[in-house]
Amino acid sequence: MDTFINNVLIIDLSKHAYHIEKREAYFNEYLGGTGAGIQLLKEFLDPKADPLSPENVIVFSVGTLTGKFPMVSKTVALFKSPHNGYLGESHAGGRSAISIWQAGYGAIVIKGASQIPVYVVIDGKAVHFRDARALWGVNDMAVAGRIMRERDGKSGLRTIMRIGKAGERLITYSSLTTETYRHFGRLGLGAVFGSKKLKGLVVTGTRTVPVENKKEYKALYDQIYTSCVSSSTKKYHELGTAENILPLNALSALPTRNFQETSFEKAEVLSGENLAEAHLGRRVACSHCPVGCIHLAVLREKYPDDPYFYKTSFVCYDYEPLYSVGSLLGIQTVEAFLKIMITVEKYGIDVITTGVILGWTTEAYAKGLIGREQTGGISPAFGDAGGYIELIEKMIEPDNEFFELMGKGLDALTKRYGGSEFAVNYFGNELSGYHTGPSIHLTHITGARHSHLDSAGYSIDQKMLRKGALLPPEELAKQLFNEEAERQVLTSLVICLFARNIYTMERVSRCLKLFGLDVSEDRLREIGKKILMEKNALKREMGFDMENFTIPERVLTVPTPSGRIDPSYLRETAKHFKNLLL
Ligand code: SF4
Repeated sequence: MDTFINNVLIIDLSKHAYHIEKREAYFNEYLGGTGAGIQLLKEFLDPKADPLSPENVIVFSVGTLTGKFPMVSKTVALFKSPHNGYLGESHAGGRSAISIWQAGYGAIVIKGASQIPVYVVIDGKAVHFRDARALWGVNDMAVAGRIMRERDGKSGLRTIMRIGKAGERLITYSSLTTETYRHFGRLGLGAVFGSKKLKGLVVTGTRTVPVENKKEYKALYDQIYTSCVSSSTKKYHELGTAENILPLNALSALPTRNFQETSFEKAEVLSGENLAEAHLGRRVACSHCPVGCIHLAVLREKYPDDPYFYKTSFVCYDYEPLYSVGSLLGIQTVEAFLKIMITVEKYGIDVITTGVILGWTTEAYAKGLIGREQTGGISPAFGDAGGYIELIEKMIEPDNEFFELMGKGLDALTKRYGGSEFAVNYFGNELSGYHTGPSIHLTHITGARHSHLDSAGYSIDQKMLRKGALLPPEELAKQLFNEEAERQVLTSLVICLFARNIYTMERVSRCLKLFGLDVSEDRLREIGKKILMEKNALKREMGFDMENFTIPERVLTVPTPSGRIDPSYLRETAKHFKNLLL
């Protein structure tokens, strides 16, 4: 029995105070993670709060299986998003989940705002508020992370989450980085940290839980572990999600040059295969994961005046960055791609949103909606990595209205300069890299966080393509709903979604039983649906209406592998999805 998982650490930044409360029901009935997080948000957050005010609340939560089984490695963050004004939800691995759990908590709630920059150190039961004034404004986020590690480093499991300059400057799509290569990327958690003057969070702990039925536990653990290192996860280890570049390109579903095209002449260069063969430096893994899908490329940059002297950097890559600051920007070489990535990492911004905004900027400039006056003398052009890096640098230190708006996302830019017809986003969140058919667009429209991971419509698109027919809207709505509901179980238990075929509902039920929770497969599915409905109910209180979306003209005019998307099909399916939530 894991009794510590019910502990919720509540931190009030306004008072530099903290205390611990118990929430058994959130972990027993909602499994932790997303399920517990939504309950905590409902409890602590006024849905009408300004996302960048002290009234916004951040919840970090882990699940009832954290620390007990492999690939249960994620931490869920929930907050009100400053990027689109709705529910902010972001997941990351690294050492974050295990560290929170070993510190003795199932969740951490952060409210209020500090008067001065601080970072918070959670060391088991003790919480320290460290003055971070000297770290505020440091140009490279990695430096701030290293200083925290030097001061508050401890051997064993410790997570260091921190924001960069983008978060400090309240760029609405700034991210929170953990362990250098993992990110709470989407929907602007970094800006919420920045608004609270919170530079980072260091969490350390040493507790564990006793196992009562050791024999049964070992048998189940071994079975799951064997599945984790089996052929189903091989692709994640070998090439990682970068493996998707070539198949999507072959399918003509790889968004290129701001979605103007769907195949890229340099797909081979940016492919997972080429990166692994010619650039891979090493792989790393989240704690308690035997897969190790995190691929790091090596970039060697020669010093101009020293013949055999190189600056060597390790840069994390996977499919979404290769799309968003690769094919979407017409980037021709791996080196150019890695240099953009280094800039993105340095300041802490969401790479998908950054790439989509740069793609829009390039087209807006070519069409004359903006000129050199707006871009500070830069002429953005597809393929010109140097120009994109300069644009990012200028956005971080904005000196005109254009760069201010660039830091607020596509909706802010199109409202001022026009060009919404080629601005690829839904509900204020920029699109991920799949133009496989209508289902993926519906995933972005209906998914609680408007992310491709909500219900993975690209898989349904490919099934429909093979069958040669679209599903009726009502049936498609049901499939997307059921997929998203089942994913709530996984994200509540904080199981990595790459293990979704390993952790069947039957296995999850057995895992829970070993730790004293008797939850049937059917009950798990009911819990998943309930969480999804509660998420959407909270979004509605924030002003969200699923049927009130704009379809970018670009999405409709550029054919998918199954042809052009019919807007009435999107609207009809979204209407059915909305009805399933009521
Ligand atoms: S598969 Fe990758 S993302 Fe998932 S837990 Fe393992 S290392 Fe982390």
